[in-house]
Parts: sequence; structure tokens; C-alpha cells
Amino acid sequence: MSDRTSEYRVHTYTAAEPGLFVNSYVIETAEGVVLVDANLLLSDVRALSARIAALHKPLLGVFVTHAHPDHFNGLPVLAGDGVPVYAAAEVADTIARIADAKRVQWQPVYGDEWPDRHRVPDRRLSTGDVVELGGLRFTLHTVGAAESEADSYLTLDHHAFIGDLAFHGTHPYTADGHTRSWLAALDTLTGALDGAVLYPGHGAPGDVGMLADQRRYLMMYRATVGRLAAGAPTLTDAQREELTAVMTRFLPGAPLSWMIGLGADAVAAELAGEVTDDAGAAQIEVVPA
Ligand SMILES: [Zn+2]
Repeated sequence: MSDRTSEYRVHTYTAAEPGLFVNSYVIETAEGVVLVDANLLLSDVRALSARIAALHKPLLGVFVTHAHPDHFNGLPVLAGDGVPVYAAAEVADTIARIADAKRVQWQPVYGDEWPDRHRVPDRRLSTGDVVELGGLRFTLHTVGAAESEADSYLTLDHHAFIGDLAFHGTHPYTADGHTRSWLAALDTLTGALDGAVLYPGHGAPGDVGMLADQRRYLMMYRATVGRLAAGAPTLTDAQREELTAVMTRFLPGAPLSWMIGLGADAVAAELAGEVTDDAGAAQIEVVPA
């Protein structure tokens, strides 16, 4: 009886390239299943739903790691009205704020594959909160702005579901322009998750080495954007192409290379803002008390 509560399997559903290779994780226990992240495109969401149905166990709850559509789009299809959807309060608030704008931005690109409605997580969590589902204890950890406006990760024993805090083997999304705080988060997480098995939002599971890899990538990306932009808040098309060439050489053969240019202006603006902030901070320091 005591064994029963600790036994579980982690199944992975990975979208194809049009769906950004995003992972949804299905944790199966004796009593039911728990889903981490809800995928992006309706064809993947339906396939994921069929995969869950084929386990012939109830869906006990869904967690959303962060407020990007490739992690929340499938919620209205996957989670019935009675199924609780958990997220950090700031993740839920961000989804509520951006979901309609994301649909306006991306439905013309993805057409019928983009859902017509969204669902905001209804079970709002704070960092350190523990949720018990199917005999398992999930702990939520908030990170603040990093890859998105609001990131978090979940731990279950020695497993960590890290959302997009690291992309493992693909080019990352940088278009929210929080690379500085993302780097700070990676520094903290490398110690906090040492020894854990990390399940990323994109790419294969691995160890904390993927956090160090993400850190190196972001350092290179920021350095290259900074060199090309030279203080300007945007890049020219030619500079964006050069950035893409540099980062493609940095991560040879990696998919989602169109994301390199997608985030260029956001990071240029971020770096331009940092120069202003640092100058302001330096001025404050020299004012006599
Ligand atoms: Zn993602």
C-alpha cells in the first residue's frame, strides 16, 4: 500500500516542428494522470488528448509552467470543467492578459490549428505550495520573468519540470526581452536543481548541464546583439541575418532557427534599456549622502 503512492511513470508527448517540438508531460499513477503543460496546435492537442484517454485513467489535474501559448493553448480541450488547472498566480494573470493578443498575432499564421478560446488556470499557487494529486506531491517554484513574463517550475521527488527555463538542443524564444533576469535565474537554478532530472519544454530530458548550455547561449546572443546594435533598440535586416548566422554556428544543426531573428529587437531594446539603467544607477551612487 505504501509503494502504491510512490509509483509513477512520466510519459512525454512531443509536437512536430510546426508545433515547436513542445513537450507535454503526462505523469501516470495508479489512480490517474497529471498533465504538465498543454501544447500548442490543435492537431497535437487532440493527439495528446487521445494519448491520455488511452491510459484509461482520470485526468486529476493540469499544471502550466509559464504563460506562453505552446504551454497553455490546449487547456480548453484537455481539461474538462471539473479538472483543476494549477499555475503560479502570476502565470495565470499573464495568460489572462496576453491570450487574446497572442491569438490575434498567431491565428493568421496557424489558422484552424490555433484554438478559438483559452482557459486561465483557476488554482492559483505561490512559490513553495505543494499540490497532492494521485498520491504524488508536486511543489511549485516561481522564478519571475525569465524566458516569459512569468516562469515557474515544478518538482516531484528528483524530477523537475522546468518549462522553458532551458531549451535543450533547440534555439530558444527570446522575444519577451528578459534575458538579463533569465540569466540570473539560471545561475540560481543550477545549484537548486543539481542532481535532478530536468524535463524541459523543448528538447530531451537531461541534467543541470542544459541550464549551463542555455546560459552560454544567452550570453552569446546578448553579446552579439549588443555588438551589432551598438546601443540602438532595433537591428536592421542585415544585422538580424548576421545574428542568425552567428547563433546558427553556435548551435549547429539545431531546429527553430527562425526564433533567432524573432527575438532580436526585443533583446536589442532590453540591452539599450540596461545601458540607461546602469548609467542612472551609477549617477545615484555618486550623489553624496
Ligand atoms: Zn515553449
